[in-house]
Amino acid sequence: NAPIPIHVQPLHELPPAAGGGCSSAPVLRERGQREVFCGLTGIVWLHRKIQDAFFLIVGSRTCAHLMQSAAGVMIFAEPRFATAIIEERDLAGLADANEELDRVVERLLTRRPDIKLLFLVGSCPSEVIKLDLSRAAQRLSQRFTPGVRVLNYSGSGIETTFTQGEDACLATLVPELPALPAEAAPELLVVGTLADVVEDQFARLFQALGVPVRFLPPRQSRALPPVGPQTRMLLAQPFLGDTARALEGRGARHLPALFPLGEEGTTAWLAAAAEAFGISREHFDAVTAPGRARARAALERQRTLLAGRSIFFFPDSQLELPLARFLSRELDMRLTEVGTPYLHRGHLAAELALLPAGTRLSEGQDVDRQLDRCRAAAPDLTVCGLGLANPLEAEGLSTKWAIELVFSPIQGYDQAGDLAALFSRPLDRRQRLAA
Ligand code: SF4
Repeated sequence: NAPIPIHVQPLHELPPAAGGGCSSAPVLRERGQREVFCGLTGIVWLHRKIQDAFFLIVGSRTCAHLMQSAAGVMIFAEPRFATAIIEERDLAGLADANEELDRVVERLLTRRPDIKLLFLVGSCPSEVIKLDLSRAAQRLSQRFTPGVRVLNYSGSGIETTFTQGEDACLATLVPELPALPAEAAPELLVVGTLADVVEDQFARLFQALGVPVRFLPPRQSRALPPVGPQTRMLLAQPFLGDTARALEGRGARHLPALFPLGEEGTTAWLAAAAEAFGISREHFDAVTAPGRARARAALERQRTLLAGRSIFFFPDSQLELPLARFLSRELDMRLTEVGTPYLHRGHLAAELALLPAGTRLSEGQDVDRQLDRCRAAAPDLTVCGLGLANPLEAEGLSTKWAIELVFSPIQGYDQAGDLAALFSRPLDRRQRLAA
């Protein structure tokens, strides 16, 4: 095997966090009522990414309504997700749900020969009636092979929150990935859905650096990236604990890094990969310098609007820690509370180290208590879900919908300014209304 060079000097040094960071800071753990979307929501961005896949939610009318509102007012001639509605007679056990599901899938695949990968997505109702979707997926896969691969995962609100749906989806893809032979040259695997425009930018940067790269999920299900002991895995999203574990089970090695938000995060993320592939510091600096300069210039304009303003994060997308690091270090915002649905200490170690000491960190939610803390902090800006935003606006607080941060292209140098603008816009709007 080609050995991976070990570098004593990091390619890119970061200034330490004020007060020594939050690596060992206490975390307030709450397990009360929570206000977070379920994992079905991930279908909104996953169906755009894997272009020959279809997501069939096996759920209720509530699930169908959630998907329609989360996806906005999108009218498709040929949509790539739908809900197979479980009716009352299914819930009462009066019909054979498996037979009905087989009929729905057959109708769908006959009408849509463009579908090459079908996900059966579990929901609360399918779990309540204990519909075994993994057996259904096996049965249907055998029936429709080799034309269509059928997989299943759960997006139910009982098992998953919001972005965990993507984790469950990608984890179910991992056993399907072909093997990367042990004698192959090392390859980088970027894991996590990125908007196509962002993926293209990163692909160009890795190419310029001389790092061979593939992406998971791929745009076509027939082009699944191989994985093996020569795979070096770089996470593009912080909510992929199960997927990373499954990839490590196939031999991939995780490259610890910041997440690619802002100029600093993007540079550190690229540097983690470049170091693992033995790229020289001079070459790394030459390739990244133009992007870094563009990002810094864009952020300079935003800093005048955001510096000194305080921000409170309700737990929602698991992007909260990397966003808080970006806002505090590159835009001089003040962090009051940073909440996350789940804190993966391993994957977020670099982020924790760069948060200013004294930042209040919380994991999970007890929504009433958190609302009290938010009111007491009276932040300039509150990042929260749709359900909390309107009441908080009515109380005079400026809010930012967390869901927008997941649906928008925010990673990389050329998106750094747009990402900052997502936070400055609500403040600007309130200022104008007040004037
Ligand atoms: Fe609601 Fe559960 Fe359906 Fe999600 S999966 S929309 S939480 S019923």
